Amino acid sequence: MRVDRVEEDIYVFVSSLYAQVTATVMLTPQGAILVDTMPFPTETREIAAFIEEHLGPDAVRYVINTHHHADHVFGNYLFPSAQVIAHDTCREMMERSGRAGLARAKRESPALAEVELRLPDMTFEKQMHLRLGHQHMRLFHTPGHSPDALGVFVLGDKVLIAGDTVMPVPYIVSGSVDGTRRVLQSLRALKPDFLVQGHGDVLLRGEVEETIDASLTYLDCAVSQVSELVARGAPPEAVREIDIESCGLSRIPLDGLVSRLHTDNLTALYRQMRRGRSPNGSRS
Ligand SMILES: [Zn+2]
Repeated sequence: MRVDRVEEDIYVFVSSLYAQVTATVMLTPQGAILVDTMPFPTETREIAAFIEEHLGPDAVRYVINTHHHADHVFGNYLFPSAQVIAHDTCREMMERSGRAGLARAKRESPALAEVELRLPDMTFEKQMHLRLGHQHMRLFHTPGHSPDALGVFVLGDKVLIAGDTVMPVPYIVSGSVDGTRRVLQSLRALKPDFLVQGHGDVLLRGEVEETIDASLTYLDCAVSQVSELVARGAPPEAVREIDIESCGLSRIPLDGLVSRLHTDNLTALYRQMRRGRSPNGSRS
């Protein structure tokens, strides 16, 4: 697993086992804050060992879940003495479908056999401030990639942990295009020095704006190309002809997984449009 040091005491771990998913560690003399966990216990344990090396045992005070997706929350249970923080809707979604999702994942992957569902303890609706040691951060609702998503803005260091709102390709299958557009614009306005994506490399200040602009262009392009297919009565398989590169993004990041995420996006858009729901929210 790769670890990037983005500030004096802020480290970003990037999974080598699953889709380059990220987890962020903030160390303070008063304890650690962990934003998201890894899906597989071996990697979450590596992070726990790293924190223990710096601060001693049971030093994680808070685990923040950026949203309820399995690849971000399956490691919560490895921090029994920490408070888990998430959006209200994240807790609701995990209560509703977490157990069934975990059972399904365990059937597919024996490496998850020991994972236990651990629900958030503290939740909020719009935003909350969290302070620990010298760190002060604002947690705020960012519905788009999923309805329960949140972002974390570390105020002193201007580090933005964006969760899956920012990825090498925006992924809207369990969320909305409109929401994702709105949230991307609001994140750009924060002008962070570093942006931690939910998957993939940490973005530096100069890369943030261009990445967000490319994501917005991608969404516009995907919507217009799929609506054209729907308008001419093309079958659902026709979305496969729309190349990710024709929407301005590379097929290379995340070891090529982006192409599959792109096709999933198009299929979801096609279904929404066929049902008559406009993904723009402006035309129907
Ligand atoms: Zn996600």
